[in-house]
Order: sequence, then C-alpha cells, then structure tokens
Amino acid sequence: VDSSRKRLVIGNWKMHGDTAFNTELLTALRTGIGSAPQCEVAVCVPFPYLYQTRSLLEGSGVTWGGQDVSQHEKGAYTGEVAAAMLADFGCRWALVGHSERRSYHGESDTVVAAKAAAALAAGITPVVCVGETLQEQEAGHTHAVIDRQLAPVLALGADSVAKLVIAYEPVWAIGTGRTATPEQAQEVHALIRQRLREAGAPQVRVLYGGSVKAANAASLFAMPDIDGALVGGAALMASEFLSIAAA
Ligand code: PGA
Repeated sequence: VDSSRKRLVIGNWKMHGDTAFNTELLTALRTGIGSAPQCEVAVCVPFPYLYQTRSLLEGSGVTWGGQDVSQHEKGAYTGEVAAAMLADFGCRWALVGHSERRSYHGESDTVVAAKAAAALAAGITPVVCVGETLQEQEAGHTHAVIDRQLAPVLALGADSVAKLVIAYEPVWAIGTGRTATPEQAQEVHALIRQRLREAGAPQVRVLYGGSVKAANAASLFAMPDIDGALVGGAALMASEFLSIAAA
C-alpha cells in the first residue's frame, strides 16, 4: 500500500447500542487506541448517541461520524439529519450510500452523490459505499455496477473527489461471515483506484467492508489498493475492533 494514504479503520455500529453499552465500548476504544494511533480510527454511531460519543471520545485518538446524512441543507425534511448538525456534534465522517440504505430506503446513485456533496459542504468527509449484490456478482456484472454507482460521485469533480473516502462492500459479504478473498477484493479495489486516477484523485482511500474481523484483517490490508476497513459486527466488540486497527 502507498504509504501516503494513511490507513483508516471505521466501525459501523448500525442500529446497535444503548448508553450503558456505548460507555463501555467507547471507553475501551479510547484506552486501547491511545492518543497516537498508527492508523486513523473512527466509529459511526446511531444519531441519538452522537452527543455521548463526542463526550467520551473528545481529545482521544478516535474520531466519530454518522451513518447517513441528508442531501438537503435544512428545512421541512422530517426525520432527516443535516450535515451541519453532524458537524455541530464534532463528526468527522458520514457514511453515505451504505447498501442497507440503498436497498431498504431506495437511495439511488444520484441521491448518494448528493449526500456526499452535502457532507463535503459542511466539512465532513463522506465515506461513499459501493458494492454489488450476489446476483450481480454471479451474473458477472460487478465492474458495471461499481462504475454505475461511482459515476455521479466522480462527476462531483476532482476537488471534491479528492476529499472522499470510498468503501467497497460486496453486499454478499456484509454480515454473512463470507468475506471476499483478499484477491477478490483487490481486483475491485484496483478498478476503483483506476477510476479515481482518471478522475484526478489517485490518493483517495479505498476501504474494504464485509465480514472483516481480526482473523482476516491483515491479509486484506496486505493488498496494494486496500487502505483500511469499514467494520460492522466486529466493531461492537472492543477487542476485535482494536485487533483490526492494530493489523
Ligand atoms: P459486517 O458489516 O462487517 O458486519 O459485514 C459491514 C458493513 O455493513 O459496513
């Protein structure tokens, strides 16, 4: 891996946690990571816990973010959370276009790109998630799907693209225990890197996500175009998550 791209490990808690559980987990992460981590480490928590997360992580080596963000700046959008609100809670990151948002909430590629732009406008780094379903993979459409999902994001222009993080998460590997092999992941990461190069932003970090755990992290991170991980299930266990960050 190109050492100018700082490694990044982000935990995606999804819809898990409560104040007591979070206190324990966040305190363990804060202690475990220390103040000068070797890589960047972050957690994306449910919105109601951003305040708690900020209180427990402020001044530590761990940053935090939201799991989604509105494409709108403000206004009559009941239930939505604006990028400026995330910034107000010290968020450094916002996941956008997670496959669970795309499939359960009908988020299109254009909406995902608009959310990325909204985050950037508020000074938040969007972590744009892309990935094919099992059906698409079996039909040999992986590259076409990635290109389709990336197109409106890359159209934001080189200056914007340079500020993003991309996460490749094959849908068939999310929460299934079925990780892509390092070679399988690298093959798609190389395509994404190629597209980033063409867009004038070769230094953007590309994370892998989908059943990442302590036992498979090091072999994934050994691949030339895998710059870190977006971790779901294993991010809810301090020791697992810390081992992934250590890898
Ligand atoms: P998983 O989830 O690590 O539990 O597979 C990853 C994700 O959905 O971000």
